[in-house]
Amino acid sequence: MKIIRIDVKKKSISHDVITKNSKYFFLGARGLTSQIVSDEVNPQADPLGPENKLIIANGMLAGSPFPNSARTSVGAKSPLTNGIKEANVGGRSAMMLARHGIRALIFENISDDLQILLINDDKIELVDAEVYKGLGNYELNSKLYERYGNTIGIYSIGPAGEYMMKSATVAANDLEGYPSRHAARGGLGAVMGSKGIKAIINIPSKESKAPMHDLKKFRETSTPFAKNLIDTKTAFSTFGTSMGMKTMSNFGGIPTKNFSMGSFNDIDKISGEALHELVIKRGGKKRLACSPTCVIKCSNLIVDQKGNHITSSLEYETMCLNGTNLMINDLDSLANIDHFCDDVGIDTIEYGGTCGVAMDCGKLNWGDAQKVIEILDKEIRNNTEIGKLFGNGVKYIGDQLSAKRVPQIKGQGISAYDPRVMKAMGVTFATTPMGADHTSGAAIVGRVPRQGRNYGEYTDIKNKLDLSFELQVYTTVMDTMGCCYFIGPSYENMSILANVINAMYDLQLTRNDVINIGKNVLRIEIEFNKKAGITKDSNDVPEFFKNEASPPLNLKFSFTKNDLQNFWDRLDNYVF
Ligand code: SF4
Repeated sequence: MKIIRIDVKKKSISHDVITKNSKYFFLGARGLTSQIVSDEVNPQADPLGPENKLIIANGMLAGSPFPNSARTSVGAKSPLTNGIKEANVGGRSAMMLARHGIRALIFENISDDLQILLINDDKIELVDAEVYKGLGNYELNSKLYERYGNTIGIYSIGPAGEYMMKSATVAANDLEGYPSRHAARGGLGAVMGSKGIKAIINIPSKESKAPMHDLKKFRETSTPFAKNLIDTKTAFSTFGTSMGMKTMSNFGGIPTKNFSMGSFNDIDKISGEALHELVIKRGGKKRLACSPTCVIKCSNLIVDQKGNHITSSLEYETMCLNGTNLMINDLDSLANIDHFCDDVGIDTIEYGGTCGVAMDCGKLNWGDAQKVIEILDKEIRNNTEIGKLFGNGVKYIGDQLSAKRVPQIKGQGISAYDPRVMKAMGVTFATTPMGADHTSGAAIVGRVPRQGRNYGEYTDIKNKLDLSFELQVYTTVMDTMGCCYFIGPSYENMSILANVINAMYDLQLTRNDVINIGKNVLRIEIEFNKKAGITKDSNDVPEFFKNEASPPLNLKFSFTKNDLQNFWDRLDNYVF
């Protein structure tokens, strides 16, 4: 496998081969992006300057038939958190990169020229992209299909990325061809914009260069594991993540009206069940895979009344931050907000959080979906002053408006779980090196990272530090393998991963070796952040979560400062 280096200013391209002796051999995806950022980026660097690097990496299992293993990690120093960041995404391209024999792309330097990186079997080259300047992801994708064919894989940025807005995403085209999947968190699209890279195009390779030592042995573990996922995830496959809407509102933990309440009166209008009915009635699609090898298929495709595509996939976090959080109660509005976020290339979570702060400050009316869409389509798309106010994240707008209730941690907007109610998720938000990112250790109600252990009630702080810690370690392993964490970040699955890695690379890793990969990646990330000035003091939540109770459960955030500051001491002595 190779690592490709692209200097966007000198327009030069070189490559290194990852051998078994390389320190990068046991790393992929998040593990690799974080290791490279740690090795090569000055922690004090300007995230949008020439010292920062943008790394796009697939996981150790990419190119194999292991279920849900074809995700891409995008990593850099984040313009939003000013610390290390990784965001991962489905789509077509991780598998394509693996088949080309590529583990990672490293973009160095900055450039004012807009370019495309074109990856073909016999050549990797930079191509002028001025003709695509300012295009939204949808129009860009259409033009790229016309030019390079419908089977290409694409990573791209919309106008928000070109303008280097701090909420900008890196889009990936899905299996249906829409730019609907996003490495959304952390403003990594702005880093891609600073490098002048509008898109990365993968032309499918004729044959796979992905490693596979013993396919028969690999399948002995992989095939029954995939079958079990198919058998046990039927409800999730049918309703997708949106099934969380009603459940979370019933649990009292769905952020509502800028995190001032935990349940929403109109939840039935925007529930997963309502979305399911709408999709079926209009002839949209359910049970779609966002990337090759996915067997769970939790994605959907929403069409309008005439059957025209609006968006895919409408997810729980988007529906919550832009629905309950903004008091918007109709599914078409949410589908359109998602569409325009995808098109201009902006994080739906960060954008919903930003609009929530603006509404709380009286700058927008609660429930005004039309205005929320207009800001995306007119202001952010054209880089107006209002667009800049709304395109740079929750913390930025909070500072500009001197807002009192700003739901962000380490510079990044809090995702769709009230930390006062979902206690373990609150710990993850406060402690992960990734800013308030639920995907770092998603302690949703009922998730048990080790069978037989009792982690207690979701509203109670008992055992929640351990629950979050275990999930964060296992999730880091999953992220390093390039796997979707919906296959289960658990102690039990660490053995499954060890088995398939051993078969794929002719190794003898144990479950503990695999767990140690995750622990080491976390150590690297925490150390980088420390050098960047993000110390354990920043492991905390905004004061209003400690002072204001969230109805209807009337709970407050109740972990001590000490609990959160010393959280990562567990890395040295925890008994898994
Ligand atoms: S389970 Fe859902 S998010 Fe995960 S890979 Fe499959 S479609 Fe994508």
